[in-house]
Amino acid sequence: MRFIVHVDIDAFFAAVEVLLNPALAGKPLIVGGLPHERGVASTCSYEARRFGVHSGMALRTAFKLCPQAVFVRGNSQLYQTFSERFFRILRDYSPDVEETSIDEAYLDLTRCRPIYPSFSAAAREMKARVERETGLSVSVGVGPNKILAKLATRKAKPGGYFEIEPGREEKFLRDVGIESLPGIGPKTQVLLRMLNIHKLGELWGLPRPTLRGIFGLGGDDIYLQSRGIDSRPLTTSGLPKSVSRETTFLQDLWDRRLLLAHLAYLCDRLTLALRRDHLYAHVIEVKARYADFKTEGRRRLFLTPRQEMADIYKIAEELFLGLWEGSRLALRLVGVKASDLVQVRPLSLFESWSDRHERLGSAVDRVRDKYGFGAVLTGREKMLDEVYPFERKRGFVLKTASLTK
Ligand SMILES: [Mg+2]
Repeated sequence: MRFIVHVDIDAFFAAVEVLLNPALAGKPLIVGGLPHERGVASTCSYEARRFGVHSGMALRTAFKLCPQAVFVRGNSQLYQTFSERFFRILRDYSPDVEETSIDEAYLDLTRCRPIYPSFSAAAREMKARVERETGLSVSVGVGPNKILAKLATRKAKPGGYFEIEPGREEKFLRDVGIESLPGIGPKTQVLLRMLNIHKLGELWGLPRPTLRGIFGLGGDDIYLQSRGIDSRPLTTSGLPKSVSRETTFLQDLWDRRLLLAHLAYLCDRLTLALRRDHLYAHVIEVKARYADFKTEGRRRLFLTPRQEMADIYKIAEELFLGLWEGSRLALRLVGVKASDLVQVRPLSLFESWSDRHERLGSAVDRVRDKYGFGAVLTGREKMLDEVYPFERKRGFVLKTASLTK
């Protein structure tokens, strides 16, 4: 018997916007763009959903349904930061975590039996900790497999905890609407409703060959899913596919020095994330978006994976200048990405060459934890600091240090 926990942040992007601007609390809020813009809503607050607005809906349609809503463009880098914090907390509770999207995950606690006297207590504690440490509301569902855990979360939303206890699966499933199953798409729903089947319990009357006759191979899936049978393991590579940092400028930029300063800052934030998770990157990629939204990227592969700030900045600068210097057009965004990641724990075979950099990196991290990001800056970042001052704590600023030595 497995103990699977499904966790989902409620109205994620909208909730982050409310954290930043508490005046938005309780108002219909739509993240994704302004009403006259093309594009779709990426998240809507629960207050907006009451007007029939949902994610994926064209902004213009959302505006027609709910003209009083507050529309914001959103900030993907900010959401990414919250998402990373969310997953970091989850990983404290189990090594078996499947990240299914930016705000959603499955945890398998089964292997952690010796650590937890009660799985339920552990799951509830995890929920409370995520909410305390991120300020975001999450819904948690628990069951013996992924399908049941996810259905439990639907029931728990928004903000609740719902556990399907062993032996009560059938009772739980009986009244669940057929539209809740991931294997039942809109077309299948129409067919089932024609057969007067609206709830999972009503599906149980149809024998497997009948379902197969109507839906082909998908019929088997419907047969199993409707009974809550799901033996899929969690997909847990454990490592993120990539780590990236990008900045959209308030005004388009073409000042070479300022662009490189931004790039240095992004590399600094990127390597901070790599160090924290002991990750080294085989591929470094740089992205530039021009004022007309045309986007270009350049990447380079390394057989020896990289983590150090000075290395990664040097590579990023070369790639960036290679793609931008020919045109020198104004840019609205630059980004840097590390991918093909490998995890190297301290005391491994890379120790000899990575040791010194890791020690410098973690010393920098400790100073920043204490005195703020602005306490240690590279020469290039210092220039950026004059334009957009970095955070400093206690009004105390350490002498600017160089990360290159
Ligand atoms: Mg969500």
